[in-house]
Amino acid sequence: MSAYFQFEEYHRPQDLDQAVDILSKFGNSARVIAGGTDILPRRPGVKKIDTINHLVDISKLGLDYLKKEGDHIFMGAGTTINIIGAAPIFLSGPYGALSDAASAHSTSTIRNRATVGGNLCNASPCADLALPLLVLDVILMAAGPEGKRDIPIESFFKGVNYTALNNEEVLVEIRIPLCSEKTGTSFLKLRRHQTAIDMAVVNVATSLTCKENRCETAGIALGSVAPVPFRAKKAESMLAGAKLSKGIIEKAAATAAGEARPIDDVRSTSAYRRKMVAVLVRRSLENSMRRCGQ
Ligand SMILES: Cc1cc2nc3c(=O)[nH]c(=O)nc-3n(C[C@H](O)[C@H](O)[C@H](O)COP(=O)(O)OP(=O)(O)OC[C@H]3O[C@@H](n4cnc5c(N)ncnc54)[C@H](O)[C@@H]3O)c2cc1C
Repeated sequence: MSAYFQFEEYHRPQDLDQAVDILSKFGNSARVIAGGTDILPRRPGVKKIDTINHLVDISKLGLDYLKKEGDHIFMGAGTTINIIGAAPIFLSGPYGALSDAASAHSTSTIRNRATVGGNLCNASPCADLALPLLVLDVILMAAGPEGKRDIPIESFFKGVNYTALNNEEVLVEIRIPLCSEKTGTSFLKLRRHQTAIDMAVVNVATSLTCKENRCETAGIALGSVAPVPFRAKKAESMLAGAKLSKGIIEKAAATAAGEARPIDDVRSTSAYRRKMVAVLVRRSLENSMRRCGQ
């Protein structure tokens, strides 16, 4: 048996309909390939790839775009991590967490190929881009044989490497609602060796919308501490409506740590992960507060 992922046929559809037709025709034996940085390095027997014989390359579908229109920013699923990291719209203001997460993802070489859609659809518990997109409450648009449908990001992640998409669907677009200028967001990541290609031991994103030092809404998303990236709702509700102070931020960070469900693995123990959630959430909330001008 080869040490590398083997497949029979590589398809390069020229439009979305063709891509959906191929995926529908080959069912469970076909998978989308975008940048290929997750799917190609997989080894046989690992991560359920043994049934895949057809790869459907979506790079010709025109899914690499980023535009602001009306009340939303529209981001194609094929947008690379480097494009997100360099986009002026994310460099300052309410979307800073996206820029932070893109810069913390892997190396520049990988980021030139890796796409935001691949990061979400791979559904790793430690996917970096998932966290800012969770606190930004984005809507994901998928296309399949029945047409297009919207999926709120909170109901997208179903388990490790498992999402709400059906096999024959393609993630097409990520719709980011425009935020108030009083919103600040932040992303932080702890790695074991602090090298660029190390995946997160813990990663977090936070958002705060503040007025006169009072929090109107708060978002806290946690990664690498449960089977899926998720929002720490109890901690968020402690902040909503509260006057922001060192004390309340520390309490919310400790509550978020209580909501984590970490495991022991090669990167860390569960006990260390839980402690680090409290530290990273506190620091990220402080960053978010600074960024919303408080
Ligand atoms: C050395 C190295 C370092 C890495 N470091 C990081 C890191 O720091 N942080 C991090 O989060 N990740 C990291 N990764 C993982 C990977 O780079 C990212 O998850 C990346 O964003 C995946 O995007 P891709 O376009 O390459 O996905 P692909 O490998 O092309 O696809 C991944 C999965 O998503 C599916 N898919 C892709 N696009 C779509 C779509 N539009 N619709 C439906 N299904 C789709 C594919 O079928 C496949 O199952 C690293 C990988 C490597 C090899």
